[in-house]
Amino acid sequence: MNQPETLKIVIVGHVDHGKSTLIGRLFYDTGAIPESRYAEIAATCKAQGREFEFAYLMDALEEEREQNITIDTAATFFRTATRPYVIIDAPGHKQFLKNMITGASSADAAILLVDGVEGVREQTRRHAYVLSLLGIRQVVVAVNKLDMVGYDRQRFQQVENDIRAFLHSVAIVPAHVIPISARAGENMARRLGGTPWYDGPTVLEALDTFENVRADRSLPLRLPVQDVYTWDGRRIYAGRVETGEVRRGDEVIFLPSGKITRIRSVEKWGAPALEAAGAGECIGVTTEDELFVERGEVIARRGSAPVKSRELLASIFWLADRPFRTGQSYLLKLATAEVIATAVAIEERLDSSTLEVTERQAAELLPTEVGNVRFLLKSDWACDLYGDNIRLGRFVIEAGPQIGGGGIIRSVVDEAGSA
Ligand code: GDP
Repeated sequence: MNQPETLKIVIVGHVDHGKSTLIGRLFYDTGAIPESRYAEIAATCKAQGREFEFAYLMDALEEEREQNITIDTAATFFRTATRPYVIIDAPGHKQFLKNMITGASSADAAILLVDGVEGVREQTRRHAYVLSLLGIRQVVVAVNKLDMVGYDRQRFQQVENDIRAFLHSVAIVPAHVIPISARAGENMARRLGGTPWYDGPTVLEALDTFENVRADRSLPLRLPVQDVYTWDGRRIYAGRVETGEVRRGDEVIFLPSGKITRIRSVEKWGAPALEAAGAGECIGVTTEDELFVERGEVIARRGSAPVKSRELLASIFWLADRPFRTGQSYLLKLATAEVIATAVAIEERLDSSTLEVTERQAAELLPTEVGNVRFLLKSDWACDLYGDNIRLGRFVIEAGPQIGGGGIIRSVVDEAGSA
């Protein structure tokens, strides 16, 4: 029997709207945390004269994790009868945005939490916008803390209307809007009877209807060259197949150099030669003609190749402490390519909570701001529009040793000069 694939989810929402509580509750209800562990934390809370909070459970797990393993694996698992899940939200707003933008994480689906008492707030809107920008279309909204308003149906409907209206403005249609109490466990894994007026799914049932985003192998081939080796007198171009499939005998184009040749072999270190390799595999290929190309080139098929461009319009999130400015040069990294680019214009600066354009032709972006920026590149690179191919449509902006921000390619001026 095939193992069901893990669904990767992010849990987003305004601070204090109940993310940790919801995660703790999901773990508890699905038995991801042994009862003994739960009892231990309950006892500690009691000894300290505090009420039990699922959030403490999460804090305790978080601490353990930090002591034991690296940040990279700050992922947490639970499972339903249908399949395993992993929550890939790293704690903290900045970290989350950074991971999402840089592609450190890529989620199949999201739970957007809204506090039923407070209603839609700034980060609710900002996070929803990020989900939209990142193309996460499988979204379930949970209206939380309804125990605090006696599971009032009207209050729920008011919040539901507000969030639906906002999501509509960012092109997200939520699969479900669910009235919950993360603390009490209402409509999380079970119906406890607090919302007899609600006949939709629980949070777990809603998650179980989502699908894994598995477009990668069916997309056109993108094999960014990571290294070029010479071995036994042959040149081997090594890298990870980001999307699509590469097959022996394929006619391919290397971009941006534009060199065309055929794949002579597909190989894996220490293994017999392969007929083909697909998305996610780290491989080497040799070609019929010896090409003198470098790291950063992308191998693709003719007819479905990425665009070669020196000018592009991108939506960027800025995260670094110092402002992002027009006229300045930045190092952009896309897959294995690195290019120096000048920000020639911030065509629009957006208020990241309301998404309104606050300024046109702006001079700078401050931390956590969003802008539509035109870049001129010092050299060619091969890229895709984000809507066509997430992996080659997203880049990171370096700012000294740190990540300054991330960008999503909206449009390019291609070689011929047309947008
Ligand atoms: P986060 O900042 O989004 O992770 O929010 P937390 O999970 O830390 O929750 C913030 C506060 O809201 C905590 O005191 C929780 O106990 C409380 N809270 C979370 N969910 C519920 C709920 O369903 N009902 C009630 N009454 N309180 C909740």
